Amino acid sequence: MANNEDQFKKVISHAKEYGYIFASSEIYDGLSAVYDYGQNGVELKKNIREYWWKSMVNMHQNIVGIDAAILMHPTTWKASGHVDAFNDPLIDNKDSKKRYRADVLIEDYAEKLHQKAEKEIEKARKRFGDSFDEAQFVATNERVIRYKTEQREVLERMARSLETENLADVKALIEELGIADPDTGSKNWTDVRQFNLMFGTKLGASADSAMDLYLRPETAQGIFVNFLNVQKSGRMKIPFGIAQTGKAFRNEIVARQFIFRMREFEQMEMQFFVRPGEEMKWYNYWKETRLHWHLSLGMGEENYRFHDHEKLAHYANAAADIEFNFPFGFKELEGIHSRTDFDLKAHEEFSGKKLQFFDHELNKNYTPYVVETSIGLDRMFLAVMSNALQEETLEDGSSRTVLKIPSILAPVKAAVLPLVKKDGLPEIAQTIIDDLQWDYNVSYDEKDAVGRRYRRQDAAGTPFCITVDHQTKEDNTVTIRYRDTMEQERIGISEVSEKIKESISFKIWLK
Ligand code: ATP
Repeated sequence: MANNEDQFKKVISHAKEYGYIFASSEIYDGLSAVYDYGQNGVELKKNIREYWWKSMVNMHQNIVGIDAAILMHPTTWKASGHVDAFNDPLIDNKDSKKRYRADVLIEDYAEKLHQKAEKEIEKARKRFGDSFDEAQFVATNERVIRYKTEQREVLERMARSLETENLADVKALIEELGIADPDTGSKNWTDVRQFNLMFGTKLGASADSAMDLYLRPETAQGIFVNFLNVQKSGRMKIPFGIAQTGKAFRNEIVARQFIFRMREFEQMEMQFFVRPGEEMKWYNYWKETRLHWHLSLGMGEENYRFHDHEKLAHYANAAADIEFNFPFGFKELEGIHSRTDFDLKAHEEFSGKKLQFFDHELNKNYTPYVVETSIGLDRMFLAVMSNALQEETLEDGSSRTVLKIPSILAPVKAAVLPLVKKDGLPEIAQTIIDDLQWDYNVSYDEKDAVGRRYRRQDAAGTPFCITVDHQTKEDNTVTIRYRDTMEQERIGISEVSEKIKESISFKIWLK
């Protein structure tokens, strides 16, 4: 996958041209970092959500789902720590008037050091060929050691300063490292300030009796406050999980990366409740299980990596991200966090209600520990789109644009195309659609030469084209064309449904 701005721009314009993503309220010039999903986008999003839900809820007998409200009692956010601590450190450039997250500027600087070290390793690999011993090279090469040490020191110092709220030192670090505005090169920075990311709103009609609320900044708290409801009504035994997908809102300081960082987005979260002391076992289990889920989609093992956190959030005792190789580099796609008993304890304290579990085997009450998996649905969407969009040069020298979305996630599974718009072929195509649409999202296309229609379906991401021609009238066969290989095959109409079914079998994909 091309690791560059060009590829990213192509993804954005392709997403619009093919009905995947539009800017919100575009006729009014849009709303910054808010997006609408179009006719294909909504299907892809639904399919990703379903792939997640099935693997988390249906495939685990001890995980159930809920759908909590977006609006919650405001004390929720006091208890969770969001009112006091859901802040990002922001910094403004005085010349360009652009605003940045101070921690992101420093992380990007550290990432450059990492890239430099990787380049040295790559050069050495080429130079030494088969006899290359990477571990030894990394341990002894002066440049690599220097880059890696500096990278570690920079991140550690930032983590320390943020933890102790030493914002002056965060600014000092930016200045010492000579970090410049990525857009203009200016180093004329303001002080670093904290900014709360929650959107406020009001409940109630009259100004004086209205209650201040927040739009939830994460779906997790809806799960914690329902812990006992679900545990009791579902007679759940530890360990068990509660899953939820839904909208979350954050007033992000910098939102310039399309659907990577939005102000309104959707999360898919699962909170797994475990015995205190067993959280590390489950943390490792969920790290592996979630990585397996990603790899099952076949988007390239090399495009994923774990990033273990240096700086832990106030509630966590271990945390890792699964990062994906987006067109703008490796960035967080999903977080796996060991949240201890922080949330349940805090809600106990603020609500005065016990949120504990009686463990019959241990014959005692305790507040469970929690391991969370949290993935942004929109970020996953972007990972799929940017990985899928490819420009291929064909044998005859021409090129084609193809969206190789894993077939299980593809918005439209098959397009049915009559070779010509006459001789009864459209009618046969229609009967095929009438049959397939019971099970699959299929579409019909009769405009233009069939070659052009194939290209259009390739670009839209449709895995199969079913072409009806004159021979169909004689022997009830059609041509099935595969998006990824462009191969064509003659099969009976009665076999079409089975072909599609095999290609989108959840069992085959997830296994
Ligand atoms: P980041 O460091 O990128 O701001 P985060 O660590 O704050 O993310 P979490 O609070 O762990 O993110 O949220 C879990 C997941 O929700 C993230 O891994 C990401 O996929 C998604 N997510 C978080 N913020 C956004 C956003 N503004 N837009 C889209 N997805 C988001």
